[in-house]
Amino acid sequence: MKKIYLFLLVCSIALHVHAQRTVIHCGNLIDGKTSDVQPQMTLIVEGNKITHIEKGFTKPGSADKLVDLSKKTVLPGLIDMHVHLENETNKDQNLQRFTLNDADIAFRSTVYAKKTLMAGFTTVRDLGGSGVNIALRNAINQGLVEGPRIFTAGKSIATTGGHADPTNGYRKDLMGDPGPKEGVINSPEEARQAVRQRYKDGSDMIKITATGGVLSIAKDGSNPQFTDEELKAIIETAKDYGMHTAAHAHGVEGMKRAVMAGITTIEHGTKMTEEIMDLMIQKGTYFVPTISAGKFVAEQAKVPGYYHPLVVPKALEIGPMIQQTFSKAYKRGVKIAFGTDAGVYPHGDNGKEFTYMIEAGMPAMEAIKSATVVSAGILGMSDKIGTLEVGKFADIVATDENPLKNIRTMEKVSFVMKDGVIYKQI
Ligand SMILES: [Zn+2]
Repeated sequence: MKKIYLFLLVCSIALHVHAQRTVIHCGNLIDGKTSDVQPQMTLIVEGNKITHIEKGFTKPGSADKLVDLSKKTVLPGLIDMHVHLENETNKDQNLQRFTLNDADIAFRSTVYAKKTLMAGFTTVRDLGGSGVNIALRNAINQGLVEGPRIFTAGKSIATTGGHADPTNGYRKDLMGDPGPKEGVINSPEEARQAVRQRYKDGSDMIKITATGGVLSIAKDGSNPQFTDEELKAIIETAKDYGMHTAAHAHGVEGMKRAVMAGITTIEHGTKMTEEIMDLMIQKGTYFVPTISAGKFVAEQAKVPGYYHPLVVPKALEIGPMIQQTFSKAYKRGVKIAFGTDAGVYPHGDNGKEFTYMIEAGMPAMEAIKSATVVSAGILGMSDKIGTLEVGKFADIVATDENPLKNIRTMEKVSFVMKDGVIYKQI
């Protein structure tokens, strides 16, 4: 027995002494904290953390692993604040609500998670699925599946017939009467119950569908779908449980109510008025634009039979508006967090959003910060991710070109490290 202990002790000492450091030579470094691009820098990673940041190219020790990114631009791991890892757009999506079991959804989600990570997104906020996304998060955290860090809403909260009522469009005898457990509420009491249920299920935060939406089988994409009392109950209860809140919102009234009630982020924000922009500035509400989704659904709506007939006019109306709204909101001073609605368009194309943001007038460095330091703050992770600083998690990506010169390089990230582990290197 003693011998075994001694052996283990020697092993652990040996491991400690020889713990390999990864020395990363960075041609350019964008650290997410400053607004400069720093040429020729070295990051040193030990375990899952950044332990040194040095000027110039530090010579690696004999036991160190050198990662040569001396021709690349290195950035903090990217954060997408609006994805749906459980599914991906296709013309049979409505039928699949009846044909796919949870296990089918789970296997698919692992593929989408990996695509997302390979695109340089080392952290995402999953804004709603069936709840399989909670198991996906756990499997990734346990190292069983490769994917980004996930902060998930589990299943979104809606009202009856609202955008995230899971039985919209079903035949009557299949509709049933989903309640707070399934994320459908019709009073402040049920609202509180639904939030507490999500906490129990393991959700990290709360998502509500404050107005109608494009892809649900319902007529109106903009109507308000919660009362002030219901919104207040949801947001207050979420705060009690340490959860922040996100509201899907296209229309004016529902968006305004959510902002007034103290929602953390407004998603899409399609018909946002100047009055709402000013309210958001006043209350510190973030806007997560998802321009990518708007552009994609507007395009796909022209393909005959791709969407349900009730969806087509909504996609044609709402889709093209988001980029312009983003432009106005940014210029007015609304705080912007990066989010794309991946799943509504194919996973892995998240980086296109940078191009759309820049087209609409946001400088590249600000767009990068919206996808790093700003989003980390909303997730309560400012001390761990979002910038490249000593002591933070080694979530590191690289692009072939300097994104300040060519933003499209963000669409093909060529190096990905998450939590100190390299997942991609080309
Ligand atoms: Zn969404």
